[in-house]
Amino acid sequence: MVKKATQTKEKSAEVAPYLPEKKRLPKASDLLGNEIRAMILEQGLLPGAALPSESELIDSHQYSRGTVREALRLLEAEGYISVQRGPKGGITVRYPTVDLVSKSLATMLTIDLSPLSDLFDFRKLIEPAAAELAAKNATDEQVEQLLAISDYSIPERGSITFHNVLSESTGNEMFRVILAAVNRVVEWQTSLEGVPEREVMHAGDAHAAIAKAISLRQGSRASTLMLQHIQSYEKIMAERGRLSEATLPRELWIAQLRRSVHS
Ligand SMILES: [Zn+2]
Repeated sequence: MVKKATQTKEKSAEVAPYLPEKKRLPKASDLLGNEIRAMILEQGLLPGAALPSESELIDSHQYSRGTVREALRLLEAEGYISVQRGPKGGITVRYPTVDLVSKSLATMLTIDLSPLSDLFDFRKLIEPAAAELAAKNATDEQVEQLLAISDYSIPERGSITFHNVLSESTGNEMFRVILAAVNRVVEWQTSLEGVPEREVMHAGDAHAAIAKAISLRQGSRASTLMLQHIQSYEKIMAERGRLSEATLPRELWIAQLRRSVHS
C-alpha cells in the first residue's frame, strides 16, 4: 500500500500541469524609484541638480519614510543620485558611471566562470571595428591624445588607457559604453594575470602603430593592426593554458574585491 501511494505521488508530480510564474507585484519603493528616474529624464536634470528632500518626497507621494528611504538607497546604489546626510545635506542628481556597469560585468564573468576565450573572441570582433570607426570619426584632439599616450616616452603606453581613448574616439555611444566595460574586465584580467614587462612594451609598440594608422585615417590598416595586437596577447594566454579557464582567476579576483572594500 505504502509503495503504491509513493508511486501515485511520483506519477502526479511527473504530470504536474505547467503553472505560470506568479507575477510579483511591484514594490512601492520600486515604483517611487521609477518616478524619480522619470522626473530626472523629463526635466532634463543634469548631474549636481537638487532633487526634493526625503520629507518632501514623503509629503508629495504619500509613501512611508521606510519606502522613501529604500527607494533612495536603490537609486544611490545604481548611481542615479547622491545623498549627502546631515543639516547641509541634500539629494542631487548623478549619472550612472561606466564603472558600475563594468564592475557588475566583471563580477558576472567571475561567477559564471565564462572562459577567457570568450573575452578574446568578443574583442577580436569588436575592437578592430572600433579602430576602423576611430580612424573615421576621431576628432583631431582625440588623434593627438592617442598619439600622445602611445608615445615612446610614456611608461604607461602599453596600458588599457589607450583602448579607452580609442573607444571614446569611435564617435559611437554604444561602442564607448560597452567597450569601457569590456576594457575594465581586460584591465583587471591583465593586472591579476601578471603580464611580463616585455609584453607590455610590445603592446605599447602596437598601440603606437594603431594610433599612427588612425592619425593617417587608414581605417582598414588600424583594424588589421588591432586584430594582430589582440591575437598576440591571446597567444600568450594560450601558451599559459589560460584560454579555457575562467576569465578572471577566481581566487585572485576574490582577493581583489576584498582589497577594494578597504580602499
Ligand atoms: Zn592594447
